[in-house]
Amino acid sequence: MPELPEVETIVNDLRPGLKGRSFTDITILWPRMVLRPSAEELRQRLPGQTIQDIGRRGKYLIFRLASGEVLILHLRMTGSLLLKQKGEPLAKNSSYIRAVFGLDDGMELLFNDRRKLGTVSLVKDEKEVIGKLGPEPLGASFTAKELAERLSKHKAPIKAVLCDQEVIAGIGNMYADEALFFANIHPLRAANSLSPEEIERLYRAIQKVLSKAIGNGGASISDYRRPTGEKGSQQNDFYVAHRGGQTCKVCATPIERIPVRNRGTYFCPRCQRPPTGS
Ligand SMILES: [Zn+2]
Repeated sequence: MPELPEVETIVNDLRPGLKGRSFTDITILWPRMVLRPSAEELRQRLPGQTIQDIGRRGKYLIFRLASGEVLILHLRMTGSLLLKQKGEPLAKNSSYIRAVFGLDDGMELLFNDRRKLGTVSLVKDEKEVIGKLGPEPLGASFTAKELAERLSKHKAPIKAVLCDQEVIAGIGNMYADEALFFANIHPLRAANSLSPEEIERLYRAIQKVLSKAIGNGGASISDYRRPTGEKGSQQNDFYVAHRGGQTCKVCATPIERIPVRNRGTYFCPRCQRPPTGS
């Protein structure tokens, strides 16, 4: 599933081609993906609108339009975006096109989504969609102190709390597992039980794993592709995520997989000691 580094990669890949372009014809093949307004209204309101810039907030892609309106996309589990010339044949991995956004330079942006969980919104005020998100973990104003304050309010397992978008935006299953590994913290520890030293380690680990993954163009575990159709390479650099049964790159212990609040969670039982009393 695309997380902060994958969405950041997509935004950076799309920006040069899309900035300053205008939408032309819009085709919505799966109307339920349009959360607001209706698919029909989006199809009428978007053509002619110019893209001023593209950005990211958490796992959302944000297209700021010259009209002041904002087009917001979320890729959820299996969504990806492909930018190609109109009429150019589709790659093999893009047989689940749910929406086509035509552009005024003869290109088109395709929303490919096998499981049909991705969403599209066109709103005047972006707060309607992203207003509740927690801070950006790579933002200049995000500090270990803020992380500590936020974690202190939650007694759920740290793995689950890191994936809560209202606590911190952009982290999901893969990067929560990687960050906890580098911080030597077991995923089942209660979030409010971490010591100041552990929170400092976790803060640094979050920044390290996210920055490195952006540098690698994200992780292509299943459906994620860059807008060119290329895969990212971060999956080759994972230490625990999706490495169940393989050995820890630090201590050679087999990586284990456990469910944490219904999320498959990978960790090293030696590098990440279980909570005391369990
Ligand atoms: Zn280990």
